[in-house]
Amino acid sequence: MSRPAHARIDLGALRRNYATARRSHGGQVLAVLKADAYGHGAVACAQGLAGHVDGYAVAFLDEALALRQAGIEAPILVLEGAFDAEETRVAAARAIWLAVHRREQIEWIAAAPNVRSAGRKTVEAATIHAWLKVDSGMHRAGFIGDDVRAAYQRLRACRNVGGISLMTHLARADEPASDMTDAQIRAFDAATQGLEAPRSVCNSAGLAAWPRARRDWGRAGIMLYGVDPMDPPALALEPVMTLSSQVFSVRDVAVGETVGYGARFVARRPTRVGLVALGYADGYPRNAPDGTPVAIDGRPGQLIGRVSMDMLTVDLTDHPQAGIGSTVELWGRQVPVAQVAKAAGTIAYEILSNVKRVTRTYIG
Ligand SMILES: *Cc1c(COP(=O)(O)O)cnc(C)c1O
Repeated sequence: MSRPAHARIDLGALRRNYATARRSHGGQVLAVLKADAYGHGAVACAQGLAGHVDGYAVAFLDEALALRQAGIEAPILVLEGAFDAEETRVAAARAIWLAVHRREQIEWIAAAPNVRSAGRKTVEAATIHAWLKVDSGMHRAGFIGDDVRAAYQRLRACRNVGGISLMTHLARADEPASDMTDAQIRAFDAATQGLEAPRSVCNSAGLAAWPRARRDWGRAGIMLYGVDPMDPPALALEPVMTLSSQVFSVRDVAVGETVGYGARFVARRPTRVGLVALGYADGYPRNAPDGTPVAIDGRPGQLIGRVSMDMLTVDLTDHPQAGIGSTVELWGRQVPVAQVAKAAGTIAYEILSNVKRVTRTYIG
């Protein structure tokens, strides 16, 4: 038998979460598959969604090319845009949509050939679809104020540009009490007023909590994987990844004895300790504290002791039936990944996208 560390990915749940995204947003929705689909496997997730989605989004060109190589033909938007003229040419040749957030990117587009090979001939074709990014207040990337209009006109004048969309990104959409989202919507609408193009504002949190931000296209990331961006949850979502492993050693420790590195866990009662084959090198957060929830053979349990590189320890004292070979779910259908993230002082985005080294299987 091989090492039992394992991530089961439910593609049916992924498709249902996408359908939920589309239903709540209306219009069209890009499925965001950056960071290897938030740790779920980008190619497998793209294939699982193929035929069900309006398009995909990734962070950078190589991620898009990997999907094209795997036979994905639907639109793919590169959210960071091209890094140079060569990437711009490659994106155009593969009909990959490019975010445009600074002036140089427009010059690379203007310089890219507007030809596409059609059999033995090359034909003139407007091949580039630009998603012009507006900085509506997040101040990470994008054109501001009047520069938006100028950039739009410059793109309009490029003969090889076949489509322009307008997008912006929300900084605090997961905070319903913040007034920043309304301010960003107003800034975006003002900067793009009168420009003829489809628009896109919502990430998952925008889509869940800000009906006023809905436009032609949503961009759903974390919610596809079953994590509600709002606390308390606003949407009915299904977890997609179940990360589990097995107990492969058991020992009893007496009161006052300790477990693991740093002797962080100190037994306050005679304690039965189960050793689980999964550690921080698999992506489990190293700083998860004692008491972080797990499920042991389907019943609620707790992590004890510091997480090691390849192993972690759980408390089996209240699980007399459990022993070597017992299944331990680290997160998934029984243990919400958001709870683990919260216990570890981070967010589900980070721990999901850190998952590696475990065997992945796909169902549905
Ligand atoms: C990652 C990303 C998204 C998706 O965000 P979620 O919060 O995961 O839904 C949407 N738009 C842009 C520009 C992004 O970078």
